[in-house]
Amino acid sequence: MKPAAFAAAGAALLLFFILSAGEQPVVLSYSDFWLLAESGQVESVTLSDGEYWHSILTDGTAIRTPNPRAVDGKERLLALDIAVKERESALPGWALGLIAVGAFILFSQAKGKGALGLKKYAAVQADERAPDITFQDVAASGETLQSLRDLAAFLKEPKRFADYGARAPKGVLLYGPPGTAKTLLAKALAGEAKAPFFAMSGADFVQVYVGVGASRVRELFRKARKSGGGVIFIDEIDAIGKKRDSGNDEREQTLNALLTEMSGFSESDGIIVLAATNRLDTLDPALLREGRFDRRIEVGLPDCGQRLQILKVHARKKPLHENISLESWAGQTALFSGAQLEALLNEAAIRAARRGSGPILESDLESAFCGVTVGEESPRLMTDAEKRVTAWHEAGHALITHCMLPDARLTRVTIIPSSRGAAGYSMSVQPDRLLLSRKDLLAMICAALGGRAAEEMLLGRENVTTGAANDLKKAREIAAAMAKDYAMGETGDPDKDENAILADAMERASVCLKEHRETLEKLAKALLIKETLRENDLKEILTP
Ligand code: ADP
Ligand code: ZN
Repeated sequence: MKPAAFAAAGAALLLFFILSAGEQPVVLSYSDFWLLAESGQVESVTLSDGEYWHSILTDGTAIRTPNPRAVDGKERLLALDIAVKERESALPGWALGLIAVGAFILFSQAKGKGALGLKKYAAVQADERAPDITFQDVAASGETLQSLRDLAAFLKEPKRFADYGARAPKGVLLYGPPGTAKTLLAKALAGEAKAPFFAMSGADFVQVYVGVGASRVRELFRKARKSGGGVIFIDEIDAIGKKRDSGNDEREQTLNALLTEMSGFSESDGIIVLAATNRLDTLDPALLREGRFDRRIEVGLPDCGQRLQILKVHARKKPLHENISLESWAGQTALFSGAQLEALLNEAAIRAARRGSGPILESDLESAFCGVTVGEESPRLMTDAEKRVTAWHEAGHALITHCMLPDARLTRVTIIPSSRGAAGYSMSVQPDRLLLSRKDLLAMICAALGGRAAEEMLLGRENVTTGAANDLKKAREIAAAMAKDYAMGETGDPDKDENAILADAMERASVCLKEHRETLEKLAKALLIKETLRENDLKEILTP
């Protein structure tokens, strides 16, 4: 893992520890999955290179299917009109593990319209009129906006630039994770320049029949020329422009058609091609050459300041209660993409609208936040014993996070079960980091093991529960990375080192809890009474 991987994720690490009663979504066999898919009961699928595909059924149930790692899966899903999302990560596996609960649930929340980056283009989407979106509607860095303003100036008056012999920009590649405004920026560019907008997804170009994709490319450019120029947007360009592998004739032809068209239009045509991708490294170098996509704009996950900007953009037309602090929400939403921030405000607005009177309240945002992260709070009954063990378990995570990860902000701990099967969770946000030390990693393992350690303290070894399964998996992943990838063990034998690190962390976690037993009990009791502890409640108990 390169340290840059952290930067590439652009992200703070968001730690979730979930005591999950129902555990992971149920596993459905591959053949049963297709039966459901074919009968229209699958809403969306998240493909990944992990062990499972994760899907959401039309009734909202989450399921997992063993990953066949077959190449035609996506094609078949798209043909059935099922929204497909791909999860590829610049983060190392175990770091992904840390955010997986959040990420998975966030991505699969999408219902219908492309709120979270799930998009479908049936055919060329052409807007003869310019979109009514402008740069006002996008929160982007000054640098990004300046590049786009330059492009807009060119689109407005291509001739002026041609008269001066200025070489026209042709292709601009926007790259970054899903939901980071790549589409929105392309649209805003067209809107700003009052130029028509033509959009298509790379996946739609690459068809079963050889030649179809190439003719679609030509059609796209023909349309743009006919209407006197505009913005052509190609989403998921990697579907066409993957580094050439042996013998995919259709993709090869489509790519060649695109390259030909791009060198074919002239300075005065007033066409700019924007393309979007999650990953630059897999693109065919031919696409990146001079005169093609030779300008690149990186869009990363927003940092805290940008999150605030994005929230402000989307709060503009929403009646928010004056008590709501968007600054504080920007602080609590590390790792959210712009699309997820938009979804958060939208969900809150829906809750307020259901109530039918008064503005959007802080409690609407809180409930929406749970909805987008760990699932709706669900009134499933827990026995008193279950509540008690959950309270101790979550208090254990919280206390150790507080003691051993002093930079992390504990934002919320709850024992309210969620619709996705979690009995409770604790959430903490760590500041952006480029490098992690051995001490940091060990502390992360301790925090993950804190739930189990607290259970053991309360109930004795005999009675610890299955609720810690996720935590243990995460802890093991980090320990394995420490032992193997970072040579942070004692003996150099990865298996031995991994186990030693885990045993050491478990011991440290137990010692820490015993040392602060009073605070642990206070936390657990407060959880049993209040069920959810927010940042301020937690501060009060932890730093008296
Ligand atoms: P991408 O193309 O990168 O997957 P989109 O442009 O489709 O992402 O973003 C989806 C939606 O998320 C947008 O329509 C917008 O509502 C919201 N959004 C994402 N990023 C931003 C941003 N920087 N500013 C304002 N809204 C944003
Ligand atoms: Zn846990």
